[in-house]
Amino acid sequence: LRDATEPVDETELAIEGALRPTSLAEFVGQPKVRGQLQLLLDAARIQQRPPDHILLAGPPGLGKTTLAMIVAHESGRPLRLSSGPAIQHAGDLAALLSSLTPGEVLFIDEVHRMARTAEEMLYLAMEDFRIDIMVGKGAGATSIPLDLAPFTLVGATTRSGLLPNPLRDRFGFTAHLEYYDPEDLERVISRSAGMLGVDLPPESFAEIARRSRGTPRIANRLLRRVRDYLIVHGGEKGAADAAVGAALELYDVDAIGLDRLDRAVLDAIVHRFRGGPVGLSTLAVTVGEEAETIESVVEPYLVRIGFMGRTPRGRIATPAAYEHLGMRHPDHAQA
Ligand code: ATP
Repeated sequence: LRDATEPVDETELAIEGALRPTSLAEFVGQPKVRGQLQLLLDAARIQQRPPDHILLAGPPGLGKTTLAMIVAHESGRPLRLSSGPAIQHAGDLAALLSSLTPGEVLFIDEVHRMARTAEEMLYLAMEDFRIDIMVGKGAGATSIPLDLAPFTLVGATTRSGLLPNPLRDRFGFTAHLEYYDPEDLERVISRSAGMLGVDLPPESFAEIARRSRGTPRIANRLLRRVRDYLIVHGGEKGAADAAVGAALELYDVDAIGLDRLDRAVLDAIVHRFRGGPVGLSTLAVTVGEEAETIESVVEPYLVRIGFMGRTPRGRIATPAAYEHLGMRHPDHAQA
């Protein structure tokens, strides 16, 4: 799933790749998840076996792919990358699993979007390192068992609630990634600035951090836009101090880091639906976005900062959201 600030061209992707931490020690924040993963990897190393299967759950850009790479790197195993949408038939998964080398780490991004038939094949593969391949059709169909090399599955999902229980149960451990607090994002940004050679006053890092929606990918992306500004305006007086404000305004990132889509969603609830409640699909149609993007990218953050509430009858905008839009909440106006 791609959010609005995701890199779109090859150079941006290469920079994002270069900024990825390669060890748990370098991975900023998420202390609980880091501790849990460290124990799992240490135990596997002592017993000289592949680590247990791992499920990484959380909104986009919080470091799921990075952690999968770290699991492979720290356990000294090769990594294979795939994604749920690329596995639309059981045969796609069979081909992938049967080509793994012993101990390989298989990363499946958006694992909740795999075909149902492939999901069922994956249960057996995760548990017994075996799959049954169906040959023929109708009454003559038979299944041929195929042994697989032992592997570690690292699944990532933005929607762990969509995973069927039998699949979820077969992961030895589920890591829930949380939005980062501004102090951790500041560390991510100053590390990246050092690697990219961006020279900014220290308070700029805190400002970018406050405007990054709790998300390292967005933090790195905003830093790159600020760097662009400095490349163009660096020679001008006061450019370094003005860079963050000017660059982020140009890219429609507001003072607390909400982007165009966040604001469109709040605006729709407030103006079109009088503060809600409004159902997810109606909201998605109103802002012209996929319901899944609203649910896994926009909503978790707006709920987390207390701007949106979820009720049995739909989504509502809170008084804090009204205030951010410069309006009075109807209940407060009556009071
Ligand atoms: P998606 O599921 O959308 O692919 P993701 O959760 O897999 O997102 P990553 O691609 O792993 O996110 O991370 C995005 C970027 O953020 C990477 O460039 C990485 O360098 C940076 N990043 C993520 N987490 C951290 C962290 N804890 N410390 C430093 N940098 C991080």
